[in-house]
Amino acid sequence: MHKTAFIWSDEYYNYSFPADHPFKPLRESMTKRILEERSAFHYITLIEPEVISEEILQLVHSKEYIDFVKDKSAKGEGYLDEGDTPAFKGIYEAALIRVSGSVKALSVILNDKYDHSINIGGGFHHAKKNKASGFCVFNDVALIAKLGERYFSKIAIVDIDGHHADGTQELLNDDEKVLKISLHMFHPNFFPGSGNVNEIGYGKGRGYAVNIPLPPGTGDDGYLLAFDEIVVPIIERYKPELIILVAGGDSHFNDPLVELKLSTHGYLDVVTKVHNLAHKYSNGRLIMLGGGGYNYDATARVWSISIAEIAGIYDVEYQSLHDPFSTKSSQFVMEKIRNTINQLKKIHSLD
Ligand SMILES: [Zn+2]
Ligand SMILES: [Zn+2]
Repeated sequence: MHKTAFIWSDEYYNYSFPADHPFKPLRESMTKRILEERSAFHYITLIEPEVISEEILQLVHSKEYIDFVKDKSAKGEGYLDEGDTPAFKGIYEAALIRVSGSVKALSVILNDKYDHSINIGGGFHHAKKNKASGFCVFNDVALIAKLGERYFSKIAIVDIDGHHADGTQELLNDDEKVLKISLHMFHPNFFPGSGNVNEIGYGKGRGYAVNIPLPPGTGDDGYLLAFDEIVVPIIERYKPELIILVAGGDSHFNDPLVELKLSTHGYLDVVTKVHNLAHKYSNGRLIMLGGGGYNYDATARVWSISIAEIAGIYDVEYQSLHDPFSTKSSQFVMEKIRNTINQLKKIHSLD
């Protein structure tokens, strides 16, 4: 009932920004090692992705942008955006194999061989149609949602990365077949700056973008309150046929770039809820992607615990990976979160 595929290619290591850039594939290798040490791959099937065609990539990116990335990749210098995402030699191929991993994660679900699939090498939610952004080159999240629409009429994306899923939202803003939920830190001057409650999509997609902006200092209690009051009822109402979870590890309290305070316990609670919702409404169909996460140890523990939960093998060996405590939000922060929840209930007609 939790038959799970883990998509992996050793070429994922090639997606590594130079020098002291915070995005490193160490998180992926640490996660894989933690799982190997616990014999997880007796229960979870390792599957290699095939490289996708450029035509598939063009479902969400313009030919001009793809050519631009190829050119920068051959030269191996400069930036793909205003200065967050440096080009290096081979970045095109490195980004493509990771996107291919997410496409593979979708395809193994489609043929009903697997209930769940995981691509921790994916989750590049900031990339736009014509633009790289925030360490993301190609948007695999929006791409597999678009591909998934060929088979399903209702797909939900639940993005718990600490940053707003602005690229995914922009690419699917007018799309009612994809419910886009993003929980993220929201604060003046914090990247990418979008993701307030009033961004709800437009055209046919109006009402199908749900943004849950959270203040710095949000702990497990406040995060779960928002999740239970907003995310759960919205998914119950929508009844998606497939759920895509973007599980960036940078909402963790040790993350150096984001000031949310989720612990591994909070993460596990959220992932368990998403997993249960997938079984209740989506015939079990759940894809977990990675995302950000700049404290590598915390991210690897978050991902390992999450994967164990989804694969149905969570036990004492994974419990030992937890933080020693759950986190609490201050009274001031809780008050802010309650206000946001009340606003969202009105905006999304939840009362
Ligand atoms: Zn399951
Ligand atoms: Zn992030």
